[in-house]
Amino acid sequence: MIHIMSLNTVDPQISKLITLESQRQSEVLEMIPSENYASKAVREALGSVLTNKYSEGYPHKRYYQGNRYIDEIEELAMARAKKLFGVPHANVQPYSGSPANSAVYMALLHQGDTIMGLKLSGGGHLTHGHPDVTFSGTFYRSIQYDVDEHGFIDMDYVADLAKKEKPKMIVVGTTAYPRIFDWKAWRKICDSVGAYFLADISHIAGLIVGGVHPSPAPYADILMATTHKTLRGPRGALLMVTGRGLVKDPAMGDKIDKAVFPGLQGGPHDNVTAAIAIALHEASQPAFKNYAKQIVTNAKVLADTLLRQGLALSTGGTDNHLMVVDLRPQGVIGNIAAEALEVASIVVNRNSVPHDPNPPFYPSGIRLGTPAITTRGMKEKEMRQIGEWIVSVIKEVSHYRLPATKEDRGPFLKKVRTELQENKQLQSIRHSVTLLTKKFPVP
Ligand SMILES: *Cc1c(COP(=O)(O)O)cnc(C)c1O
Repeated sequence: MIHIMSLNTVDPQISKLITLESQRQSEVLEMIPSENYASKAVREALGSVLTNKYSEGYPHKRYYQGNRYIDEIEELAMARAKKLFGVPHANVQPYSGSPANSAVYMALLHQGDTIMGLKLSGGGHLTHGHPDVTFSGTFYRSIQYDVDEHGFIDMDYVADLAKKEKPKMIVVGTTAYPRIFDWKAWRKICDSVGAYFLADISHIAGLIVGGVHPSPAPYADILMATTHKTLRGPRGALLMVTGRGLVKDPAMGDKIDKAVFPGLQGGPHDNVTAAIAIALHEASQPAFKNYAKQIVTNAKVLADTLLRQGLALSTGGTDNHLMVVDLRPQGVIGNIAAEALEVASIVVNRNSVPHDPNPPFYPSGIRLGTPAITTRGMKEKEMRQIGEWIVSVIKEVSHYRLPATKEDRGPFLKKVRTELQENKQLQSIRHSVTLLTKKFPVP
């Protein structure tokens, strides 16, 4: 009767690892900007019996029997997405952000057509045409724009590049850009060359529906949003066609739906669909607006604290939920800063800085964000404290220099890692972080 036994009886190894991970998530400051804590309700839906069902197709047009309730769930998710983002067409089935972007390309482009997106090193995503190793960078002709040396997107440069290369699709959206997008200006550029306008709002979807970041819905043709970042739902994605998109091509919604299924995917993950519907419901509540506002307030206070203590930030600050610390003045690589911060129980990721002289594996910066710690209820006071800790950790590792020869780098990082584990200052900060996190329980 293995079917009715609990996880810790069936598989004590995995059960123990989940418990440990749960403990880790509550004891550290999760400051990776793409991460968050989904609610108990969202996680309940993910672990529900909906995982048992097959429902290839769309509501009332399924290839399987028994979809009476699944149809209602998916229709609720679609209706909520449309209402919340103010769009006439929504597909809630993409397994995640990357397949969702691929579906847009498959729906509207032919192999070899030109797409234009932001370079990975400037804060773009792999699926925005990163060359050689990705689907988007090999099936299509990819032209990439970059940020200037301060980290800003130079709209004049983008406009010229578009005129020269005539892309059929322009992708706007990033993973590491701390500023607000001028959606209207992007529309103008897209119109000047007749390109489709895909707004990839994966990172900022929660800020948009929370009313603290302008929405691209009036300007873009298609919106893609992952559901697990600031939106705080399960892992998944939404593909939405705007009113403008439907004017441009009345069949755009249909084409997107066909590209998702049967083009790229099989059966939708109905448990995720339900969890998305719940997350969208949560995002429509007044409390979500406060959360979104607090994310930005927290990021600004944290950025100010770091700047005042002498750290450099790409673009000089932030308007949203994240910031990129440029560690070139300290001369330390992002890997070491991120490792040291993790020893102190502050979890961030290493990140390239604009025009990084270092290779992507040893970038010159770290990226940090406030969504997850805001979900825990932390506010300005905690941000100032966390900022002090971050500065103090970086001071502690500022003397480490990356060896010039490639062969020496692996052993060097290994040695540094051991030293960091034993560092008394880092251990003392870890202790303080643990005390702080105890006061802010995770959902
Ligand atoms: C996270 C992200 C994606 C991809 O999402 P996955 O769910 O990891 O596939 C795509 N674009 C942007 C801008 C993102 O931030």
